Amino acid sequence: MVVVDRPEGALTEDAVDHVVIVGAGQAGGDLAASLREMSFAGRITMIGGEDSYPYSRHPLSKTFLREKKPRSELLLRPEETYERFDIDVQRGVRVVSIERENKRVLLDDGRIVDYDALVLATGGSPRTYPDDSLADASNVFYLRAAEHADGLRGHLTPGARLTVIGGGYIGLEVAAVARGLGLEVTVVEREERLLARVTSPVTSAFFAQVHDEEGVVLRTGRSVSSFRVGPDRRLTAVVLDDDTTIETDVCLIGIGLRPDTELAQAAGLEVSDGVLVDSTLRTSDPAIFAIGDVARFPSRDSGETRRLESIPNCTEQARALARTLTGGTEPFDAVPWFWSDQYDMKLQVVGLANPSDVVIVRRDPDRKRGFAVFYLRYDEVCAAEIVSSPRDFAIAKKLVHQRAIVDPGKLADPAVPLKDLLSKATSTPAVS
Ligand SMILES: Cc1cc2nc3c(=O)[nH]c(=O)nc-3n(C[C@H](O)[C@H](O)[C@H](O)COP(=O)(O)OP(=O)(O)OC[C@H]3O[C@@H](n4cnc5c(N)ncnc54)[C@H](O)[C@@H]3O)c2cc1C
Repeated sequence: MVVVDRPEGALTEDAVDHVVIVGAGQAGGDLAASLREMSFAGRITMIGGEDSYPYSRHPLSKTFLREKKPRSELLLRPEETYERFDIDVQRGVRVVSIERENKRVLLDDGRIVDYDALVLATGGSPRTYPDDSLADASNVFYLRAAEHADGLRGHLTPGARLTVIGGGYIGLEVAAVARGLGLEVTVVEREERLLARVTSPVTSAFFAQVHDEEGVVLRTGRSVSSFRVGPDRRLTAVVLDDDTTIETDVCLIGIGLRPDTELAQAAGLEVSDGVLVDSTLRTSDPAIFAIGDVARFPSRDSGETRRLESIPNCTEQARALARTLTGGTEPFDAVPWFWSDQYDMKLQVVGLANPSDVVIVRRDPDRKRGFAVFYLRYDEVCAAEIVSSPRDFAIAKKLVHQRAIVDPGKLADPAVPLKDLLSKATSTPAVS
């Protein structure tokens, strides 16, 4: 275990009577719940810009998009939980500034809230397309909030032509849902392959093949050169840099996230594509922390900083911070993992791969839509991508956690059960 020296002026357990959380999303909601689970007896105030209790965003590109369901089904926890656990949730109100010297925040309705510990869980906003012509087009959507999914769903009618800009997880999940609903779908991706930022070329090629089989037209290595918008403010076509014109009835833009760092920046905290935190998730002000999509933290392997956009990351950071705020001193040190659902497949990813890692592909010829990719760094299993085998994923997670040293030939051989490799693996103690 690594013990972290508290910086001068840092919180002690006694000093924290009131935790104020800015942002009532996944990370904020999980932190409030974790604090109570860890018997935090002080006040908790969560201030959220959306007019909702914390809800899950992952169904917005999957089940909730496919089929209209009550918003209440998205909630992370039933509404009454917050009252029962004495968590004050202020909904539909934004924090507009932080007064660090007085330890208080100002809300957009004029109220002032004092804090002992302030947590920034402000997430992010979709990166928008830098093209003014799209500003108020009625059939162009981004996807971050429940109302975006409701708006997009209204246009997903059989036979309509959907153009998805961005071949990342969200774009591909929406493409899969839209094909299931009978739309004609084209995906435009600037990089040479799908999921280029987040998976190996092998996994990218696999998903490209599946989307192709499902009837999605893929335009990788192509950028948008212009949008055609009619006088009625409807987008009618997307023109690519090879002069191809894609006639369009509805468009989804999924080109990434811009972390919401404005508050932190205005308050003079260190910010660089995210709010910079140390291994205890503390910002450059010892009384202010950041978690979730907005937090840029030091990686356990390299010490480089990174920002992750995933639910497990939110949940694990929330738990780590709750431990710190209740007197713990252990740093945040979780192995990242993630999942994506497309058609009948579940992709699960654990660890973070580097381009220099050795790639081992494990493919069972009897399973058309299932395979695994493992990454070895200095002979240790450091990351894995598993398609449609939650059981293998559970074992892969253990291999990555252990940084297991395995025989690459056996790892690639589907006849050798993965669990056998686990029991025979040599594990390397984590570097502390
Ligand atoms: C469509 C979609 C599908 C996804 N699918 C998956 C998936 O399959 N698996 C997975 O692991 N992850 C998935 N994710 C990512 C995951 O949902 C995010 O990582 C997670 O929601 C981030 O939570 P957060 O609390 O950091 O931020 P958010 O959920 O964005 O919450 C931040 C909240 O802070 C509020 N806020 C911001 N500024 C202020 C302010 N000044 N005052 C008050 N409130 C403020 C915002 O309004 C927002 O409600 C998906 C995301 C999307 C959008």
